[in-house]
Amino acid sequence: MSDDAIRIEGLRKTYAGGKQALKGIDLNVPQGSIFGLLGPNGAGKSTLINILAGLVVKSAGKVSIWGWDQDRNPRQSRAAIGVMPQELNLDPFFTPRGALEVQAGLYGVPKRDRRTDEILELVGLEDKAEAYARTLSGGMRRRLLLGKALVHAPHILVLDEPTAGVDIELRQMLWRNVRRLNAERGMTIILTTHYLEEAEEMCDEIAIINHGEVAARDSTANLLGNIDAKTLVITPETMPDTLPEAPGIKAETRDGGLIALHYRARETTAEDVLGLVRAHGISLRDVRTEQADLEDVFLELTRSRPAA
Ligand code: ADP
Ligand code: MG
Repeated sequence: MSDDAIRIEGLRKTYAGGKQALKGIDLNVPQGSIFGLLGPNGAGKSTLINILAGLVVKSAGKVSIWGWDQDRNPRQSRAAIGVMPQELNLDPFFTPRGALEVQAGLYGVPKRDRRTDEILELVGLEDKAEAYARTLSGGMRRRLLLGKALVHAPHILVLDEPTAGVDIELRQMLWRNVRRLNAERGMTIILTTHYLEEAEEMCDEIAIINHGEVAARDSTANLLGNIDAKTLVITPETMPDTLPEAPGIKAETRDGGLIALHYRARETTAEDVLGLVRAHGISLRDVRTEQADLEDVFLELTRSRPAA
């Protein structure tokens, strides 16, 4: 087989009612990578994931999962992938142990091959193994969904917005687990997010999806290294009468006595910006950098190169 965990060609989805959610996606996901699908709400990320999961029927195109054509070998392609969905869809009458056992049964995992205890421990639910799902917190339910995605030891793990609306502790626990599964078991990971920093921190490669199309796809370093809009946010001891500005450095005030200084990393360094601030006689109480947001990335990408 090829070295791609997933291969997608000409994938289209039009929902009943006429909404064109995917308009011809071509995408390959290399084996062993942590691959990010990045895009704003409504871009089509979940539609794509749900087609991979076999939960949504595609309108056109080819999907192969671990070398298995989804239409010709539905059973094998389904066995190769585990999906943690965006929606919390748990049966409230099952315990975590029960839910994992039922899921394993659905995937035809023989009793002797089940790793229920190991998975409960992996997702930190060993203490809650016998509690009813309806008594679990939102965070625990999400962890159980991750556990369910792992029962059949898939080659590919897909996480749809795993950290949307979860607290920082759970987010870190999820990322730790994902990194471990990738590093120790060579699991290919696909995750969707609308947080740029998350994709930047976690992913080897990124595809940016917008309006049902792939707007860009590259290694994280190439893709986000291209984005050179930077912002330095300073807290001056006292607000100056005039803002420090120079060619290539644009200043604006922010609430709370802050000044944001915008510049382009290719033309100006952070040292240049701080030099300007000092030359302006400003003493600093605090300095921090700010990430470009997704909107900036789209602007940059459409400015600096043609869409893929
Ligand atoms: P994302 O996950 O990137 O936020 P989605 O794949 O959920 O995007 O949605 C893509 C588009 O398809 C949106 O316009 C959404 O409203 C629409 N859509 C999603 N699911 C359905 C559905 N079941 N029926 C009709 N339209 C849908
Ligand atoms: Mg979604």
